[in-house]
Amino acid sequence: RNMPIVKEPLFAAYHGDFFKVKKRLADKKQFSMVQCAPAVRVSLAEEFGMPLGSLVPGKMVAALKRLGFTRVYDTNFAADLTIMEEGSELVKRITEGGSLPMFTSCCPAWVKFVENEYPELIDHLSSCKSPQQMAGSMFKTYGASVDGVDAREVYSVAIMPCTCKKFEANRPEMKSSGYQDVDAVLTTRELAYLIKEAAIDFNALPEESFDKPLGMYSGAGTIFGVTGGVMEAAIRTAYELITKEPIENVNVTSVRGEQGVRKVTLDTGALKLKTVVVSGLKNVIPILEDIQRGKADFHFMEVMTCPAGCISGGGQPKMLLPVDGRKAYENRKSSTYQHDEEQRYRKSHENPEIQDIYQKFLGEPLGHKSHKLLHTHYKPSR
Ligand code: SF4
Repeated sequence: RNMPIVKEPLFAAYHGDFFKVKKRLADKKQFSMVQCAPAVRVSLAEEFGMPLGSLVPGKMVAALKRLGFTRVYDTNFAADLTIMEEGSELVKRITEGGSLPMFTSCCPAWVKFVENEYPELIDHLSSCKSPQQMAGSMFKTYGASVDGVDAREVYSVAIMPCTCKKFEANRPEMKSSGYQDVDAVLTTRELAYLIKEAAIDFNALPEESFDKPLGMYSGAGTIFGVTGGVMEAAIRTAYELITKEPIENVNVTSVRGEQGVRKVTLDTGALKLKTVVVSGLKNVIPILEDIQRGKADFHFMEVMTCPAGCISGGGQPKMLLPVDGRKAYENRKSSTYQHDEEQRYRKSHENPEIQDIYQKFLGEPLGHKSHKLLHTHYKPSR
């Protein structure tokens, strides 16, 4: 756990962003914005000997500030933004027509799987970028204007539970701001290395808060870190978009769980919204085959490649024993739901900073500016 970082050529090849970020932070004149994925705050402390699944958003922010990041923002804010766009896209496809079922698009490994293996189903993917990429384009446009800096000066870093997010940041189309939207991606383990190398006593850090405006989030934004979380967040907003009534119970527990495939129908009165939640790509193949045969009868599908969602991503702290791995997933999941319940706002559309950004900058969900900055396109690989 406490081994110093290894500076071998092979390590450097895999961890190029780690050395780039270190170099950048050493320049005292740099202007950087960092975002942290929901799953990082429930796992980072494990690298410092704290109990599995400890919830440490405040200490994580304090560590990032001491490392020298100028603004500490949050991927959770962009998860709320994703729900605004994705929820509106789903409602539009249902009411005005479009490829159904719609697939979530926030897991880059899943998106690449569709591009490689099922290119004929590409139109089913939501055109929304992932929260990481939405945050990146917001940093270099709205974020830069809030601070009165040139977008060229902003160095945009993402801390992710995922190794595939490095690939996503480097997709050639991810330059909606006019620049590379996300310059570097570090995994949770790489952030822990950085903190250890800087000799920061993580356990003794005080709790600090994310910066505003791009660091404020709802409980819906934070549950993106677990399987079923994107679906639950989308239902909290889509239900209210469809019915114009508040949802009776914000905890949509029917989409939570451990089975690789969960099918849930939500009766909104006006519509029976049929949904499917999948974790693990092997579980999605029979469903994709059914869609190709015209046998699928549902509206919306969430797919996450990792077994428990992003809390079990490839960039998360590793356990030596399988029993600890299972315990870690369990504890990270319950900390995620606890964090959701601690939030003042539990629905993405109620986040006041989200309302503000649409009023001052983006206009409306699916509007012209949103399309340019928050949506993307996919390419068949064959
Ligand atoms: Fe990355 Fe796994 Fe999360 Fe997909 S589910 S975004 S591969 S960590």
